[in-house]
Amino acid sequence: MTAEVDRLMRPGIPCAAVATGCANCSSVAHDVQVTPPTTRHVSQSVMGPVKRTRPLSRDRGSKERERTLADYNKPIPDPDPYTTGPFWEGAKAGKLVLPRCTDCNRTHFYPRNICPFCYSMNIEWYEASGEGWIQTFAVQHRAMGGWADETPFVTAFIDLKEGDRMFTVLRGVDGNKPEDIKCGTPVKVEFEKVNDDVSIPFWRVV
Ligand SMILES: [Zn+2]
Repeated sequence: MTAEVDRLMRPGIPCAAVATGCANCSSVAHDVQVTPPTTRHVSQSVMGPVKRTRPLSRDRGSKERERTLADYNKPIPDPDPYTTGPFWEGAKAGKLVLPRCTDCNRTHFYPRNICPFCYSMNIEWYEASGEGWIQTFAVQHRAMGGWADETPFVTAFIDLKEGDRMFTVLRGVDGNKPEDIKCGTPVKVEFEKVNDDVSIPFWRVV
């Protein structure tokens, strides 16, 4: 097993190993900088540097307020083009683009260069349906940075129609009424443009 494979397979990869959501630093999305393997099977483009937007004054109670680019005061991902480039390029275009292993035909998320099911490095990208269901959820009453403005908000794991699971901040629900939120409820993906380079996927109850 190569050093790269060994590093990717180890548990506890720094928090950023997920494309949406981080329990350790409250970031919605960011990436680990991964050295690309020598053999690749996808074409990817390089994304430019990401600038952070200016902070907003605190505005509690406006969780569903209309958001503009200048509003976004939360951590913004700095996409790694070698591992997650197609995912973020798809998000910019309003599409949920996921990785799939061409050997075992299974979708995985978060994006990796190695299939977590059969360890193949033959990965392709495709546009998914953007449909799924709430697998489980939690109400967040305390948060850091810009997310503190939105408490209580609801985080959830979404079972994707194509398989595997994605973390999200759930839209279209009221954190003060968790009794109204049901596991198994259908959701659809939507994308929030936070700057000219990055749009972040969120899931909304339909
Ligand atoms: Zn596989």
